[in-house]
Amino acid sequence: MANNNAIAVLETGAHFDMERIRADFPILNTKVEGKPLVYLDNAASSQMPQQVIDRLVYYQTAQHANINRAVHYLSEVATDEYEKARQKIQRFVNAREQREIIFTSGTTDSINLVMHGYGRQFIQAGDEIILTTLEHHSNIVPWQMLAKEKGAVIRVVPINDAGELDIESYEKLFNDRTKFVGLIHVSNALGTINPIKRMIDYAHQQDVPVLVDGAQAAPHIAVDMQALDCDFYVFSAHKLCGPTGIGMLYGKASVLEAMQPFKGGGDMIASVTFEETTYADIPHKFEAGTPPIAAAIGFGAAVDYLSSIGMEQIYAHESKLLHYATERISAIKGAKILGTAAQKTAVISFILDGIHPHDIGTILNQDGIAVRTGHHCAQPIMQRFNVPATSRASFAFYNDISEVDALIAGIRNVQNIFL
Ligand code: PLP
Repeated sequence: MANNNAIAVLETGAHFDMERIRADFPILNTKVEGKPLVYLDNAASSQMPQQVIDRLVYYQTAQHANINRAVHYLSEVATDEYEKARQKIQRFVNAREQREIIFTSGTTDSINLVMHGYGRQFIQAGDEIILTTLEHHSNIVPWQMLAKEKGAVIRVVPINDAGELDIESYEKLFNDRTKFVGLIHVSNALGTINPIKRMIDYAHQQDVPVLVDGAQAAPHIAVDMQALDCDFYVFSAHKLCGPTGIGMLYGKASVLEAMQPFKGGGDMIASVTFEETTYADIPHKFEAGTPPIAAAIGFGAAVDYLSSIGMEQIYAHESKLLHYATERISAIKGAKILGTAAQKTAVISFILDGIHPHDIGTILNQDGIAVRTGHHCAQPIMQRFNVPATSRASFAFYNDISEVDALIAGIRNVQNIFL
């Protein structure tokens, strides 16, 4: 039975048809240790609705062949569906053109593509790359590899105790050697939503291109490439109710055209002789080899599904979960939330006095509750807060208030066992 706060939250969210939404996700019926699954590890990977599963099955059952290569019926159907998926992603992120969407294997792959295709061509010895303390390792390590190879330098934007970027410091980091900015839109470890529009505009005033890691933003808030005006934007389908092994890189057409391809092979060429190869136009220049066709089509179905609910509705519902969970966890003696930014998505990283995060995760699992424990591939944030790890509950639109209550009861149970 939910308490009064929970009822108030539910009432204000009455238009959100939770029962219908949850019925779309068969995996939510899973029992763990005989108890109903409470899945709060959505920042790592979200679950897939039946509509996306059905789309994958239909593709494999009736539409599969290799794409771009033949004139036979199935190849034309598969090519058409693959390109339709690209168009769905284009609309989802409001990119100006379809050819600005490159299918990759995910966020990490997209960033590596930009590092190799843009960074190795345009960043030289002594040049500076600005990153932030909030970056996921996948937006740190590739740039470090490049810096090492080229003799470039990485500059880092600090954060305050709430986990918010220090924008004044960011602006002061620019000088005439600054050649690139890599910026996380929403922190996976803390949930902070960064003021990226302002940061992109500032970088552009200095003629510096910006890559935005949107892995934790695209599943929760509407993102608009034309409004943001970033040069690159990247995310993975599997955090957005889609399949693993597929993601996207948005790049401004003029920037993508100026870049070298990262991978060579079939499908990315215009012509090949042993003396010389000319490349296909974008987006194909960056899609060498047979792509994960089924996954791309499933990605298209996933953004259709999210759009049918509405990103504003999703954000509003998740915000209610965030505020309710924040209030309840803050009230637990010995619990501390890391990341208290004014603008946040529904991610709660917390520590419990005297209890290791891995023990918290293990005991919660016995209650059927899935949270992530560890450094969340964001060790610089852990170093900033001087902790080795946290426990992280991350919510999706299919989570409900009773699951927050289950988490709170689970945390109290952990404390009873260990303290
Ligand atoms: N960037 C952020 C902010 C993330 O949260 C993640 C995954 O957790 C990644 C990048 C890497 O995504 P993937 O493993 O799908 O490439």
